This record gives sequence, structure tokens and C-alpha cells, in this order.
Amino acid sequence: MQLLDFREFTPFNQLREKMDTARLGYFELFDPAIHLTGNERSELKERGMLKRLDEIKVLPDKTLAIKNSRVLIYNPDENFYRNSREYPSYHVAHCSFLLESAREQPDLEYLVTTRLAEDYELLKIRPSGEISVSQHGFVVCKHCLHKLRYKDFDEFRNRKRGYSEKVLKSFRLEEFFALYTLYPLSFGQRPETADSGLLGQ
Ligand SMILES: [Zn+2]
Repeated sequence: MQLLDFREFTPFNQLREKMDTARLGYFELFDPAIHLTGNERSELKERGMLKRLDEIKVLPDKTLAIKNSRVLIYNPDENFYRNSREYPSYHVAHCSFLLESAREQPDLEYLVTTRLAEDYELLKIRPSGEISVSQHGFVVCKHCLHKLRYKDFDEFRNRKRGYSEKVLKSFRLEEFFALYTLYPLSFGQRPETADSGLLGQ
């Protein structure tokens, strides 16, 4: 599709004259390579998308994004938590756990979502091959909080252990994404894609 050049678009220039301004103002043209479509936004908010880690963008502040939206991600396989005896957790940053995961299992798909909730869906694959879906409570990944030094969280310094425990316990996604805008992100220019995946970090 050929996009029209607004600088030479008569109705636009007439409007500009009426407004008595010579300035062009600022607008970002829709580019499906960097902007989510309406359908993609709904999908992220409702069902979520399955993506490999190298398909998820890491922003300069180390939070995670798909195109122009920050996201959170989790492993939707119930067996993973059962086998590792871990309480299900979601990730909000390019943490040490994801770095390791990308190295060990680059093809593993994570559920990517913009839905802010306390419970998320886990898939259970029975030996018979039957798949069932269940809701489960989730907590934030502490490695992510450490990576971002969220509210000064530090997972290694003993002196701060009590304080960091409090930050972890009182973590709320709404509060987090009030600090790190969920959507829309503005890049000003088209971001490089070569080193934008988790594997390229
Ligand atoms: Zn994490």
C-alpha cells in the first residue's frame, strides 16, 4: 500500500492554514512491522500468544515487548512447575532465568499476554494425550525484579533480604505497569531487529 504524503495533501494543508500554523505537528504512521494491529492487541489481551523467546523483544530498560506493547510472559506447561516444585511465576523482564532458558531450550514457547491478572491458565497434558486447562495463582519472578532493581529489590544482598521479601510480596501488576507503560510504546524510529531478540542479547 502506498501511503500518501501528508505534507502534500491539500485538505491537510488547508486545515493547517486555518489553524494559522506552519508547523507539521507530530504523528506516527501505522507500520505493521512495529505497531500491533487491533486483532493482535485483542489476542494478547484475551487468549495470549505462544512465542519463542527469540521472538520477544527486549527493550533498553530490559522489560519485554511485542511490537509497541510491553508484555508479561510465562511457561504455560503445568508439568514444568510440578517437576521443578516451583510456584507458577510470570516474567516481566529479561532475567537470568530467561537467559538460561533461551540457552537450554530455544524452541520452548512462552505464553505472552497483556492481561493483568492474579490467575493465569496452565495446560496439563495427560499421558493419554488429553489436554486440560486450569486456572492457577501466579507470583512475579524474583529474578525479574532483581534485573530491574524494581523498588531497589536485590535477591543477593543479605542485608536487604527483609525489605526485598516485602517488595516481592506486595508486588502488583497494575502498579508495575503504571511505572512501565504497557501500551502504546513510541520508538521515534524503527528499532533494529538484528539484536532485539532474547538470544541476541
Ligand atoms: Zn524472570
